[in-house]
Amino acid sequence: MAEPTIFERIIDGSIPSEIVYKDDLVTAFKDIAPKAEHHILIVTNKPIPTVSDVEPCDEVMLGHLFVVAKKIATDLGVAQSGYRLIVNCGPDGGQEVPHIHMHLLAGGKLGGLGFPSKD
Ligand code: AMP
Repeated sequence: MAEPTIFERIIDGSIPSEIVYKDDLVTAFKDIAPKAEHHILIVTNKPIPTVSDVEPCDEVMLGHLFVVAKKIATDLGVAQSGYRLIVNCGPDGGQEVPHIHMHLLAGGKLGGLGFPSKD
């Protein structure tokens, strides 16, 4: 069996993290190396490696990422001012952790596409 990803360990509580939201389908926690004032990862509880591994049966769970992103953005007070959602896919897409996740970045103007520079 494959080694659990670091995100599976966060979801099962064996690695500490600052969880901001959790339900049956997704878990959201603060990124350990934030690229913006607010940087939250919204992770599927089911460990699908990349978007290229998605199946039609995952549609509801993946749509739920957006519902939770909106809720978190609202809780952070940025739903109207704006934020960025990023899903990296594979090595050339800059994906480091092989477990599908959405980045929510917010806090001031974020600049052009890609990860903003926090500095
Ligand atoms: P990606 O490059 O899209 O795979 O994003 C992986 C993200 O996971 C990066 O922004 C990392 O900073 C973040 N990360 C890695 N380990 C942890 C951890 N233990 N807790 C929170 N975030 C993490």
